[in-house]
Amino acid sequence: MRITFLGTGTSHGIPVIACSCPVCKSSDYHDKRYRSSIMVEDGDTVIVIDTGYEFRLSAIRAGIKKIDAVLYTHSHSDHIMGLDDLRVFTHERSLPLYGSRDTMDHIENVFSYAFSVHDWPHMHVDKEEEDALRELKKHNYGLPLLERHDVSPYESFRIGSLEIKALPVMHGMMEIYGYRIGKFTYITDVSKISERTMDEIRGTEVLVLGALRERRHPTHFTFKEAYDVARESGCRLCYFTHINHETSYEDINRRYAPLCLSSYDNLSLEV
Ligand SMILES: [Zn+2]
Ligand SMILES: [Zn+2]
Ligand SMILES: [Zn+2]
Repeated sequence: MRITFLGTGTSHGIPVIACSCPVCKSSDYHDKRYRSSIMVEDGDTVIVIDTGYEFRLSAIRAGIKKIDAVLYTHSHSDHIMGLDDLRVFTHERSLPLYGSRDTMDHIENVFSYAFSVHDWPHMHVDKEEEDALRELKKHNYGLPLLERHDVSPYESFRIGSLEIKALPVMHGMMEIYGYRIGKFTYITDVSKISERTMDEIRGTEVLVLGALRERRHPTHFTFKEAYDVARESGCRLCYFTHINHETSYEDINRRYAPLCLSSYDNLSLEV
């Protein structure tokens, strides 16, 4: 199974607009972060977790050619706003999207045009226009063709060769999902993990954890909090993601290696 980080930044991304702090001004490419998202490939199966604002840019950068499904952690805008660009993957068939009922309700609300059945408005057209319309209809009038799948907490489901389990975690007051896929677990935007979910994480070889910064935050782990979870999980290696501009890539690694490393955009690893 191959994991590729499509983005590793917090909701602002790095550099932050109009910021001239050392990390935003850094010339180290590790310090340039799109909004957090990953791709998981296993043989012929390709899934993506979250589609933030830079989904199109990251898909081009990572050379994504097909997607079998998209999993959503939650519906904050930095995790969903690239959804419309999924339409290039829905020319031949509809694309299944997975998430909690709350997440899917919110996504369907924001992108309502992509979830309704489309038909061309009644109007008088000549033969040539009719052919053009038929061609357009084949491609769902240029709109994404999406299939909604609501997943319950701790529910397992299969996509191609991958067995996936939804792991509820707390993001402030909000329950969101991480996902365990074999020996790999992806959890972003997390501030509290229950005992039950901790038990589900144990045995993970590579763990990705949202870790915002050194200072405390009401809805995100600090680096230290994430580090403690990584230790408790028994994982071999933990990558921090959803990182903000207060700490450089180099400083994070200096402080938290060898157990925890900062992820960076386009990092690809075999699990
Ligand atoms: Zn986020
Ligand atoms: Zn900055
Ligand atoms: Zn969030």
